[in-house]
Amino acid sequence: MPAQILDGKMIAQQMRAKLRPARDALGPRAIRLVSVEVGQNPASAVYVRNQQRAAAEVGIAMEVRNLPVSTTEADLVANLQELNHRPEVAGILVQRPLPPGIDPRIVQSAIDPQKDVEGMHPANMGAILYREPLLPPCTAAAAQHLILATGIDLRGAETVVVGHSEIVGKPIAVLLLHRLSTVTVCHIGTKQLNDHTRRADILVVAVGKAGLVHGDMIKPGACVIDVGINQGADGKIVGDVDFASVAAVAGYLTPVPGGVGPVTVAMLLRNTLRAAGAHV
Ligand code: NAP
Repeated sequence: MPAQILDGKMIAQQMRAKLRPARDALGPRAIRLVSVEVGQNPASAVYVRNQQRAAAEVGIAMEVRNLPVSTTEADLVANLQELNHRPEVAGILVQRPLPPGIDPRIVQSAIDPQKDVEGMHPANMGAILYREPLLPPCTAAAAQHLILATGIDLRGAETVVVGHSEIVGKPIAVLLLHRLSTVTVCHIGTKQLNDHTRRADILVVAVGKAGLVHGDMIKPGACVIDVGINQGADGKIVGDVDFASVAAVAGYLTPVPGGVGPVTVAMLLRNTLRAAGAHV
């Protein structure tokens, strides 16, 4: 039987509907989310517009600060520090990629951890080892949310995460470990990727290589979460997973686009409301 497609757009819509009353409970004060971008990136312009639309639906005012491409690391840090001190700013996010010469780790560390709504400040990343933090990394939280939406019992499940980046692969692995699944993390040094993926009840792929995972690498009935975003030669956006062949074998599959991406944005809004004091 073909996989059940996990509709990220619909799940994100359901999340936003739950966030709205939590936002309203905070009263009439403005809840501001500031997005800071250095230079102009057409891909991130689309992403920012989607974020703004989703934020408006939830009642969060999203301010976009475009800094010139000549901005230095010190200038960017100064901008973030100014935002850290503005009381109406609940959340700050920095759009990536940053131009060469700006170290993303320095930048992320300059954001007040309580306003770090992407959950990427070392304090929030570190807290994930103890428990699920108040402000978890959004994509990792989105991947977990989609898995939980299937109702699969994570306890004892074989989980394989492909990709071990700081912002995606590692935090996903830790969140799923907290749920007592048995987690294997694969990366560029992994010898036989299929040996691992074929054992997975839950497979999360976060690499950035179109077509990395095919149907013959999947355990029948597995839950497959495709985090990857790649632009094909025809300009279309595809994930890391070969959709047709994997959908024929898996039990659940996220599409790209329309899977992890919209839920990640909903997590960003949830984190912003949490940073503003909402209990969501
Ligand atoms: P990244 O920093 O480039 O990390 C990619 C990871 O994949 C690295 O850990 C790398 O290992 C590993 N890798 C590379 N080739 C591999 C292979 N052949 N087999 C197994 N592992 C391999 O990327 P990222 O920031 O984690 O993002 C991953 C993908 O998710 C990208 O396509 C990105 O656009 C997408 N993404 C989507 C969302 C969303 O909301 N949907 C959010 C963030 C990112 P080494 O480090 O050892 O080379």
